[in-house]
Amino acid sequence: MDNIGLYIHWPYCARICPYCDFNIYKSKSDTQAALVNAILIDMEHWRRLSGPRNLISIHFGGGTPSLLLARNVQNLIEKAKSLWTPTDNLEVGLEANPKDVNKGSLLAWRKAGIERLSIGVQSFDDVALQFLGRDHDGKLARRALELAVEIMPRVSADLIYGWKGETPAILQEDLQTAMASHVSHISTYQLTIEQKTAFGQAEKRGVNKAVNNDCSADLFEQAIATLSQQGFEQYEVSNFSKSKDARSRHNLLYWQGGDYAGIGPGAHGRLTVGGRLTVGERLNVEGRRLATIASLKPNAYISCVKNRGHGINTQEKLSAKDWAEEYVLMGMRIKDGVFLSRYEHISGQAIATEKIQQYTKAGLLTQQGDRLSATPKGRFVLDALCRELLL
Ligand code: SF4
Repeated sequence: MDNIGLYIHWPYCARICPYCDFNIYKSKSDTQAALVNAILIDMEHWRRLSGPRNLISIHFGGGTPSLLLARNVQNLIEKAKSLWTPTDNLEVGLEANPKDVNKGSLLAWRKAGIERLSIGVQSFDDVALQFLGRDHDGKLARRALELAVEIMPRVSADLIYGWKGETPAILQEDLQTAMASHVSHISTYQLTIEQKTAFGQAEKRGVNKAVNNDCSADLFEQAIATLSQQGFEQYEVSNFSKSKDARSRHNLLYWQGGDYAGIGPGAHGRLTVGGRLTVGERLNVEGRRLATIASLKPNAYISCVKNRGHGINTQEKLSAKDWAEEYVLMGMRIKDGVFLSRYEHISGQAIATEKIQQYTKAGLLTQQGDRLSATPKGRFVLDALCRELLL
């Protein structure tokens, strides 16, 4: 059987952060039951679409899924496990706001089946947290990590860098504090300014909210150096882990071109049908690759499930070109890179050898047999590098 992962999007947040452009809505507790029921029904539709599969991950993302009642988390996990065949090392992860993390919630999530917690720390610096419009402070973030590592088998601290006013010293303090908490995984995301957000509007008025590109690259370089010196491997552009087991298996599914059901308002999914797909191996890619997007607004999603039995709003068959490009754009983000034969198999054409040689010579690419990956230097210019390879 092929593998599948399950992404469940919980779109509500207690408040909206000024830089966030995800599909999010102000939290309404009265809609929790209706949305959970819709997600449960949608899951059955996805099972009909995918057929029997090995379930390798369940990921609760958002929004703020730590606002979900633990009993709802448990019902969703149980349902997924009853529809697909859970693998022995099934990853069950949840993204949590530090404010929702306490001994009681951690024990309840653990009992519900969560084994990996990804905590949106962003920073431990109170000035940074205020600037980013967060509703927690540094002390609360430290306490959340401290408790989480005691109770959860795997914990990730998610940090943001590149906000206007950030200094190397502040970043260093954030990294050191995260590492001192004994988490096994750290994500460092660059603050990007999206037009429709409050930060985007401020930038339009001439108020800078992020540092310039050069400064951001320096901060990123500093993060990589600091984390790798302490034994965190940069297995993906923004993700660092202490061991292989600490890596996010769900996110690896995205980066390796695997299949995942995208359930909940606005969730994206990918499904290979009518053929075989084997993640991490060289070939076996046949059939069609479907790209789905669920109805965006929670009420529209609930109505869609009620009227049609599923929440999918758009479903398109990716062309061979789009499928192959996505495979490279996602796959080159990870240290392991992509399989050239797989790209060729999907697209029907090979990446030009001269280009590979040219960028290998320039120190941006490295090739080992069939596997092509970006060097640390190449990862700094990854988008441009991939565009060149795909021309
Ligand atoms: S950054 Fe996280 S908590 Fe803030 S609005 Fe976005 S999803 Fe919600």
